[in-house]
Amino acid sequence: MNEERKTPEMRATMSDIERLRHSCAHVLATAILKIWPEAQFAAGPPVENGFYYDVDLPHRISPDDFAKIEAEMANEIKANHPFERIEVSREEALALGKKGRLAALGERPEPSRFKLDIIENIPPGETISLYRNGDFIDLCAGPHVARTGEIGAFKLTSVASAYYKGDERNPQLQRVYGTAFKTKKELDDYFAMLEEAKKRDHRKLGRELELFVFDDDVGPGLPMFLPRGAVIAEELEKLARETEFAAGYQRVRTPHIARESLYRKSGHLPYYAESMFPPMELADDVEASKRDASNRDDSETASTLQRFHISTRYYLKAMNCPHHHKLFAALPRSYRDLPLRLAEYGTCYRYEKSGELFGLMRVRSLQMNDAHIYCTPEQFEAEFNAVNEMYLKYFKLFGIEKYLMRFSTHDPSRLGQKFVNEAELWKQTEEMTRNVLKRSGIEYVEVPNEAAFYGPKIDVQVWSVIGREFTLATNQVDFAQPRRFGLVYKDKDNTDKTPICIHRAPLGTHERFIGFLIEHYAGNFPLWISPEQVRILTIGEEPSLMDYARSILKELRANHVRAEIDESTDKINGKIQRAEQMKVHTMFVIGKRDMEARAVSVRVHGKGNLGAKPRAEAIGEVLEKIRARAA
Ligand SMILES: [Zn+2]
Ligand SMILES: [Zn+2]
Repeated sequence: MNEERKTPEMRATMSDIERLRHSCAHVLATAILKIWPEAQFAAGPPVENGFYYDVDLPHRISPDDFAKIEAEMANEIKANHPFERIEVSREEALALGKKGRLAALGERPEPSRFKLDIIENIPPGETISLYRNGDFIDLCAGPHVARTGEIGAFKLTSVASAYYKGDERNPQLQRVYGTAFKTKKELDDYFAMLEEAKKRDHRKLGRELELFVFDDDVGPGLPMFLPRGAVIAEELEKLARETEFAAGYQRVRTPHIARESLYRKSGHLPYYAESMFPPMELADDVEASKRDASNRDDSETASTLQRFHISTRYYLKAMNCPHHHKLFAALPRSYRDLPLRLAEYGTCYRYEKSGELFGLMRVRSLQMNDAHIYCTPEQFEAEFNAVNEMYLKYFKLFGIEKYLMRFSTHDPSRLGQKFVNEAELWKQTEEMTRNVLKRSGIEYVEVPNEAAFYGPKIDVQVWSVIGREFTLATNQVDFAQPRRFGLVYKDKDNTDKTPICIHRAPLGTHERFIGFLIEHYAGNFPLWISPEQVRILTIGEEPSLMDYARSILKELRANHVRAEIDESTDKINGKIQRAEQMKVHTMFVIGKRDMEARAVSVRVHGKGNLGAKPRAEAIGEVLEKIRARAA
């Protein structure tokens, strides 16, 4: 959590809803003081989805106290007090603090000790302001809503402990969280969404639907996909393969590890070192390389190895790009070969801190829908737009209606540290990207200081149907790595030129994308991506009926439909219930009459019984829906 003091500039950018929520924090403090006048307050900022106020109080606040506190808050809001701004000198502020009058309803025997500390840390020359609502006066730079009555709806949500300024040497405070909205309806919708999100949690559904597992012997952050989850990954890969093939991509395959020298060349070391797994040392490795080289009768490689100190250290790959750059360099390239689009569902390993691991969303092994496009500056716009269009095509397919492109640029003051030291190239590439974004009419926001170290990037945020936000995919422009790798193509005038590289991964990683899809669909996947597409359920187990069911199973499987028969001796209702629980997409229910009529009764998960259909028609419909990847 960011415990730094907000500058006046940061405060000026507070959104309307943050202003409302922060104002509600003042109302919370007012209410707490009405009940416990001795309370001392520290900081009370807006946070994502709400606000908090840190309070020092001998009484331990628990959710049992919330109703009482909320009742006082409601009174304060009903009174509709104005938020009054009062500017004071440092001396006046200190004097009030010493009288216990800050974050208080009146003067008190104890000084307002946290507020006094905060005043000491306000830089000289910065205006000091107080805000007053009713009797409550707080030290605060603002801004607030005009009156307490503007807080349309609020609720306290939790209480936790937190150290003053996030430092464990400081006193421990109670952090009371709440949220607030303009209207009661927005508040209700928010809690309904949370409730629904809990039900859709991909970790919970992943377990129930037998999609993926973690295992302590394998290690944290290293998900394993069970057959039902692997199917989803394979369908996504098939989708990517077909889409990329049509868009002129070519597939490559590369190993999961590489020498340290590769990552020195790429610049991932040292810039990216903290996100990589520690290296492994392979002592007899240089000898092996020399042998390899002489076997290939490639004396140049052998002498290269001798001339340079080539490391015996290997790293798990955290990125596919360096390997792909080597493939670009493996053959002579001319302008006629460009754009060259190399694609791979590459497995990468990233060292995420164990505290940051989260289900499939933050993992240590990731299979990425990666590709690198090498092109000339003239080709850049068309390639970049084609990539964006591919994103939009996928969003449409998955019913993602809300998305935002975040265009991250560099910070000139951190060249050579966080960003490769190429001031002019940064400027050019960012401008080029910005222009293309503007011309394409895609909605985007620009975020400084968040670029990749080798160039500007575009992160794509999407919202699931219930409004949960995910960062899924990136699209990056790279001017630095091709140069570092000495990548060149022969241009028309027969001179060597360096290509631009676009890194793109519209479907992100299998891990995160599948996690997203589970929550987006609540486990009710469209037919084409359903782990089990059709389950055949017989009414009774008569041998002729079972034979009929098996012949349907055989036909479905011959057509690559993921189909099963429920072979249990349960009653039909039990079989249906079990299939519904596993969210099997389509059920073919077969009784004696269906068999005699060469028919099946079709049930679709969540839609119920759709009636009997001739066998050929029912199978034909399933095949067509899968082919069309229908929703
Ligand atoms: Zn305030
Ligand atoms: Zn890349």
